[in-house]
Amino acid sequence: MKTKSKSYLLMALGLAALGLFPVLVPNPYYVHLVETILIYAILLFGLDIVVGYTGQVSLGHAGLFGVGSYTAGVLFFKLGLPFFLVIPAAIGVTALFGAVLALPALRVTGPYLAMVTLAFGTIIQILINEMTFLTEGPIGIKVPKPVFYGHKLNEVEYFYLVAVLMVLALVVVHRILKSHLGRAFEALRDSPVACDCMGVSVYAHKVYAFVISAGLAGLAGALYTYSEEYISPNTYNFELTIMFLLAVIMGGRKTRSGALIGAVIVVMLPSLLSDIELFRKIATVLAVAVGGMAIYNYLKKTRTVRELAVPVLATTAMATFSFQLENITDWRLTIFGLMTLFVVYYLQDGVVGFARELFLRFAKPAAEERSSASTVRAWSTAHAEAGQGAGVLLDAKQVLMQFGGLRALNMVDLQVVRGSIHGLIGPNGSGKSTMMNVLTGIYQPTSGQVQFNGLSVAGQTPSRIALSGIARTFQNVQLFGEMTATDNVLVGLHHVYKSNILDVALGTPRYQREDAAAREQAASLLSFVGLTDMADEQARNLPYGRQRLLEIARALGLNPSLLLLDEPAAGLPPADLPELMKMVQKIRDHGITVILIEHHMDVVMGISDTVSVLDFGQKIAEGKPADVQRDPAVIEAYLGGSADAH
Ligand code: ADP
Ligand code: MG
Repeated sequence: MKTKSKSYLLMALGLAALGLFPVLVPNPYYVHLVETILIYAILLFGLDIVVGYTGQVSLGHAGLFGVGSYTAGVLFFKLGLPFFLVIPAAIGVTALFGAVLALPALRVTGPYLAMVTLAFGTIIQILINEMTFLTEGPIGIKVPKPVFYGHKLNEVEYFYLVAVLMVLALVVVHRILKSHLGRAFEALRDSPVACDCMGVSVYAHKVYAFVISAGLAGLAGALYTYSEEYISPNTYNFELTIMFLLAVIMGGRKTRSGALIGAVIVVMLPSLLSDIELFRKIATVLAVAVGGMAIYNYLKKTRTVRELAVPVLATTAMATFSFQLENITDWRLTIFGLMTLFVVYYLQDGVVGFARELFLRFAKPAAEERSSASTVRAWSTAHAEAGQGAGVLLDAKQVLMQFGGLRALNMVDLQVVRGSIHGLIGPNGSGKSTMMNVLTGIYQPTSGQVQFNGLSVAGQTPSRIALSGIARTFQNVQLFGEMTATDNVLVGLHHVYKSNILDVALGTPRYQREDAAAREQAASLLSFVGLTDMADEQARNLPYGRQRLLEIARALGLNPSLLLLDEPAAGLPPADLPELMKMVQKIRDHGITVILIEHHMDVVMGISDTVSVLDFGQKIAEGKPADVQRDPAVIEAYLGGSADAH
């Protein structure tokens, strides 16, 4: 509540500053400068969606910016279209290019993606240069400021137009990122596998992120055209794209304020790096500041000498170097590169992240207020569509899963009866997790069939299978680490949202209704697994055992008819085991069929209706727990295979 009113205050201050700026500083040079910052901010909001949220590298955004600029330029120059048609056209065309840029991101990641997107940007620049019939090539295009009802906007009026569009973009982007779409973007970065298994298609949402991001780049590009009144190909070069990336990282990813600070950096950095006097001054101040901090830290003994040496030496060297330089322009890219390295090593969460950490360090004692757990209907009482008749829910026939020469699953049959708890046990490496991965579409079996609810699972994507009603947890926990517990569960509830991007941007009643319902559901799921008091905690900060419980809550969000639990007891203190088993029974009692993997026999035996035993990829026994326990083959497998038998 308090933070909300604080951010409203900040927003009001920001709006006032924007509105008053041209009045207080009427100098057209500065008005134009701030206007440029606002335009870049629009692009950086979009770049942050791709880089900060989905975690994909894009070196193609200068290219997209160019597409937006030239769409505007060409439409005006060739067709004389008015501003209000040019802007949507530029957004649309650039969004299409964004979809093209997304294609490589579906196949490669990391450095390879960086290379491909870089090639994309270069090709765009070359095309702009060469397609003279459309773009006038190196000569460039002149575009005057937009005209409304016969009145041509002046610099200040255009500034206000840009400011309004920037605020609009800010609000829309913010809403998107706080919605189920934003959560999907974040989730696919933290764990693509889990994202797919929650019914959120990684494929579709990567494309979505690139398209939205490109649309914003298109808007920024078009506004830039009118702002400069002249465009030419060499603006949209390699240096610009690096600068965009640097701006997002330096400003601080996953924040809108970071993008704004980043935009200031993009605009100021080139002038800083072309004024040698200014550069010397700043390098000296930086060296003195870092040196001072180092001495302070050394006296307080919070850092080792070696940790302190690198930044001190680096900044001192830069300051010394700046006085040796006669001409800075030749060194721009080198200094850029060094700054990028510095940011990557020492300022990973950017300026905003750094400031936040400082703030938190000083304001810690005060900030321990928790939203009191509202009275939540326990999920188990709300979810009462139990008992959908007996019969076989899942039927796997002759499943063979081969990895090279290894048969991880060798002609395994598995029939799971609706409404039962089906234990799947076996020594380590016997193929239990592999079976899960086959059932959820992560692995395509070498041969064999899987029928679920009468439908064939083979050949379906994991997200399709998830949406058809199979949810799972993972043996090696796959949470969305940077997201809160609530947001993790909300990803499981993604299917509840039918709202499209327009609903989200406008905050329509439909979206509000769906969001409220999903949040209520998430709260009751968290209370079901006993995590209400950790609802706002980042998933990666939960104790290991709790993370497993959170995975269960997230999986239940899918409202599955079959739940696969892969060693849910691992990492849980032994005292919590009975609680967990009770939870599994409760889940079953509400009509959800459960496959429970464990390699500790005694854990499963108590609650399973049927147990199947795997050993070296083969099913060696199946039946009621008591019978299986007495089976000589099973005793042999456990005693011979490992010391896990109890
Ligand atoms: P369990 O879950 O029963 O402990 P797994 O299903 O994880 O066993 O593994 C079964 C066997 O399959 C192991 O020998 C493992 O090394 C192998 N295996 C599992 N996944 C792969 C993979 N992606 N590539 C190669 N081998 C794999
Ligand atoms: Mg396993």
